[in-house]
Amino acid sequence: MHCPYCSGETKVVDKRDGEDSTRRRRECISCEKRFTTYERPNLNLNVVKKDGRREAYSRDKLKAGILRACEKRPISIDTIDAAVDRIEKAVWDTDEVTSTEIGERVMAELKTMDKIAYIRFASVYREFDDPVAFEREVRLLRS
Ligand SMILES: [Zn+2]
Repeated sequence: MHCPYCSGETKVVDKRDGEDSTRRRRECISCEKRFTTYERPNLNLNVVKKDGRREAYSRDKLKAGILRACEKRPISIDTIDAAVDRIEKAVWDTDEVTSTEIGERVMAELKTMDKIAYIRFASVYREFDDPVAFEREVRLLRS
């Protein structure tokens, strides 16, 4: 966990297990500011869509999108689960995340995982109706 003020390393100064979350009081080693994080085993997260509508975050839905992109690719379900875990951990402390941010995080994961899956996801997610933009993306991956 990095400091939200200066991105420095932090240490846990107090930890309390609540009913549905673990509360950690952290202190930054560099700037000594303190902040609190909550870790929830079940994310209580809203996803804000592009049109402004909100819907409850669904791990299954996120995973389904990744699985679709990874269809017939040599990627194990464990690898996909680990990627979903990393995406969830990145947004753990917030109540709301935009669908754009989730999409960008998925693309960052897929980019290191499998180029074909990445292109598939990107073409759906970024809605490449512009063939030139799509080709540019493919070229960038090859270079
Ligand atoms: Zn700091």
